[in-house]
Amino acid sequence: MKIGFIGLGNMGAPMAANLVKAGHEVTGFDTAGVTVAGVATAASAAEAATGADVVITMLPNGAILRAVAAEVIPAMTKGAALVDCSTVDVDSARAVAADAQAAGLLAVDAPVSGGTGGATAGTLTFMAGGSEAAFAKAKPLFDIMGQKAVHCGEAGAGQAAKICNNMILGVTMIATCEAFALADKLGLDRQKMFDVVSTSSGYSWTMNAYCPAPGVGPQSPADNGYKPGFAAELMLKDLRLSQQAAESADADTPMGKAAAALYAQFVEAEDGRGMDFSAMLPRFEKRGRS
Ligand code: NAD
Repeated sequence: MKIGFIGLGNMGAPMAANLVKAGHEVTGFDTAGVTVAGVATAASAAEAATGADVVITMLPNGAILRAVAAEVIPAMTKGAALVDCSTVDVDSARAVAADAQAAGLLAVDAPVSGGTGGATAGTLTFMAGGSEAAFAKAKPLFDIMGQKAVHCGEAGAGQAAKICNNMILGVTMIATCEAFALADKLGLDRQKMFDVVSTSSGYSWTMNAYCPAPGVGPQSPADNGYKPGFAAELMLKDLRLSQQAAESADADTPMGKAAAALYAQFVEAEDGRGMDFSAMLPRFEKRGRS
């Protein structure tokens, strides 16, 4: 396939490289002038999109996605697919899909989980929203860049799945960290805490697979000085998207709201920026009740 790839950052660059490795003809564009071995460099997003069967975007946020989409949609060939893999707000995903469809294009919102490690290894999970035909067109590329692609429903469903999942993740990480900090103050050994909770009803992915306590449970960023992994500021971005969606859908999400406020404080007023999101544990450890 001829593929246009827009946004060659930490995630986009290795994803584009994997498409090249699989034999696709990829033309890329990034405003920062990033180049990727094997990817032809275009002078603009519209140039990267011209003549492409599929255009993939991997951009920072919904406003940038909307601006890029306004530029590439008119340049794309009818029947081609616009596949956005960025994490953006549901409203932007739906608006871009509607514009693409009105121009005779297929559209898929397909945010990912798996981080830069998954992008490099080609083991991402894609959560996709769009028509059957749009998903079918993008699926062979998802299979190269990832190990799993779930078709979640119509436009916006991929973003909805992603932010709901990450809202659970942010809330459970905080719950796990505050429970460890309480256990410390109660004189409970962390290994014993893990042994009990990981096999009891308090278990979760954050406890069992990504334990925030160093030296306890499987290897995780806690064992590497809380170097990310999944950075606290990216968790904050996703929690804010969940609250934006909750606001626009009139959904009551008190725990998601509290988690967004805590990560905002951690990232913006404390020393959380650049730390893994599990560094909430040392944060709680240092604090008292007030
Ligand atoms: P990044 O900041 O490294 O990359 C974004 C790239 O987009 C940058 O290189 C930037 O120069 C480029 N860009 C910005 N505006 C542009 C424009 N108008 N035209 C072309 N290029 C433009 O970010 P990333 O870590 O690669 O993340 C990309 C997306 O993936 C985000 O939406 C993020 O939330 C999501 N995501 C990231 C991770 C992760 O672990 N990094 C995991 C899952 C999802």
